[in-house]
Amino acid sequence: MGIVSWLIKNQVLVSGTNVFCQGSNKVVKRGSLFSDAIVCDCCHVTFTITGFESHAGCTRHRPSTSILLEDGRSLLDCQREALSSSDHKGNHSVVNENQKKNHSIVKENRKKNHCVVKEKSEANNDNVCSICGFGGDLALCDRCPSAFHLGCLGLNRVPIGEWFCPTCCCKICYRPKCKQECKDHKDNNILVCVQCEQKYHFGCVKAVGIEFNHMENWFCSVVCGNMFLCLKKLLGKPIKVADNLTWTLVKNVSSVDDKEFNQKESKLNMALGVLYEGFNPTFDALSGRELIKDVVFSRESEHNRLNFCGFYNVILEKMGEVISVATVRIYGQKVAEVVFVATKEQYRRQGMCHLLMDEIEKQLTRLGVEKLLLHSSEDAMNTWTRSFGFARMASKDKCQFIDHTFLEFQNSTMCLKALKTPKWPCIA
Ligand SMILES: [Zn+2]
Ligand SMILES: [Zn+2]
Ligand SMILES: [Zn+2]
Ligand SMILES: [Zn+2]
Ligand SMILES: [Zn+2]
Repeated sequence: MGIVSWLIKNQVLVSGTNVFCQGSNKVVKRGSLFSDAIVCDCCHVTFTITGFESHAGCTRHRPSTSILLEDGRSLLDCQREALSSSDHKGNHSVVNENQKKNHSIVKENRKKNHCVVKEKSEANNDNVCSICGFGGDLALCDRCPSAFHLGCLGLNRVPIGEWFCPTCCCKICYRPKCKQECKDHKDNNILVCVQCEQKYHFGCVKAVGIEFNHMENWFCSVVCGNMFLCLKKLLGKPIKVADNLTWTLVKNVSSVDDKEFNQKESKLNMALGVLYEGFNPTFDALSGRELIKDVVFSRESEHNRLNFCGFYNVILEKMGEVISVATVRIYGQKVAEVVFVATKEQYRRQGMCHLLMDEIEKQLTRLGVEKLLLHSSEDAMNTWTRSFGFARMASKDKCQFIDHTFLEFQNSTMCLKALKTPKWPCIA
C-alpha cells in the first residue's frame, strides 16, 4: 500500500485534502489528494504522487517529503505523527495538537459520538461576521468561534454576560445554560440534530422526553430522522430522468467497500471539475481553504460558517459523463439551500439545469421541505427569478432564518422559493 492509501485508510487524511509541491523553478503546483492519485488544480490531470512531483518540476524523486499539506507538513510527517500518536492511545493532548494543525484530520472525539459538541476550544474567534461575511466590530459567541455584527443579528447593544449565538442556542430553552435543575453536569452538553443541525441541551431533551440514545446519529424529531433515512436510501442510486440521462445523490461519507469508495471519490472529483467551469475557486481568509471543494466533499469545521458536513451533491449524468451539478443542504423541513449550480460548457442552454432543479424540487417536496433558498450571482438573478420562480430575498425573509448559518459566498445574493407541501411525505 502506498503512503497516501495508508494515510487515507487510517483516517489520518481525508480524500480531497489540498496538497502542493514546489518545483526547482519555484513554481508551486496545487492539487487534491486521493487514495491512489493527485488531481492537479491547474490542469485537472490525475497523477500518481511521483507524477505530480515531476509535473511540479521537482526533481527530488521523494514525493513523500516533497508533497506538502497546506500547513506545511509533508506526507511523511503526517504518517510519522499518526504512528507516534497511535503509540500514545489515550493521550488526548496529542490528538488536540494535531487538530490545531490540521482540520482535515479526523477528530478522535467526534468519531465516538458525532452529535455531542465539545466545549469551546481555544480556537480563535472568527474575524468576519457569520451572516454578512464582512469584518468590523463583532460580537463573539461564547460557545463556538463564530462572530457577528450586532446589526446583522437585529441587536442594538452588546449582550451582557455569557452569550451564545443564534446557531448555538438550545432550541428548547433558548439559553446558554440548561434551565432544567442540573442534577447532572452533562445536562449542559449540547446535542446537534444530524439533519437540521439545530442544537439542544442534553437536559432539555431529557426533560421534554425526546429520545436520546448513544448512537452515532441523533435526531431532534422523528421528522428529521425520517428525512435522513430517506436521503440515505437515495445515496448512490442513479435515477432515470430522460433517455440516457440519470441523476444521483452523492455524498462524501465513508463506505466499507473500497471500490465503491473510489468510484464515489472520482465522481465527486468530476462534479468539482464541472463546478470549477462555472465558479472561480474561492479561498476563505481565515482557514485558507477552498470553499467549493469543501462543500462538494462535505468538510466539517468547528466554525459554523465553514462547516459543510450537511451538503449533498446532486449530479446529472449522460451515460457516465457528469454534465450538471448542484450542491444542496437540507435543514429539516424548514428550509433547504442550494449553492453552486453549474453545467458543463458544451451542455449549456439545453435545459439541463431545469431538469436538475426540477428533480431537486420534486425530492425536497417529497421530503416535506417548505422553502428553497438559492445563492445566485447578480448576473444570474434574472434567470432564477423569471424562469425558476425564485424571488430575491428581502431582509424580513432573512430574520426567520437567523438560527441557520447559510453559506456566505463572494458577491452572491440569496433568493427564495416556497415549495408545495405534499399530502403524503416520504416515509423511510
Ligand atoms: Zn497541472
Ligand atoms: Zn454582519
Ligand atoms: Zn455560536
Ligand atoms: Zn436548553
Ligand atoms: Zn432536527
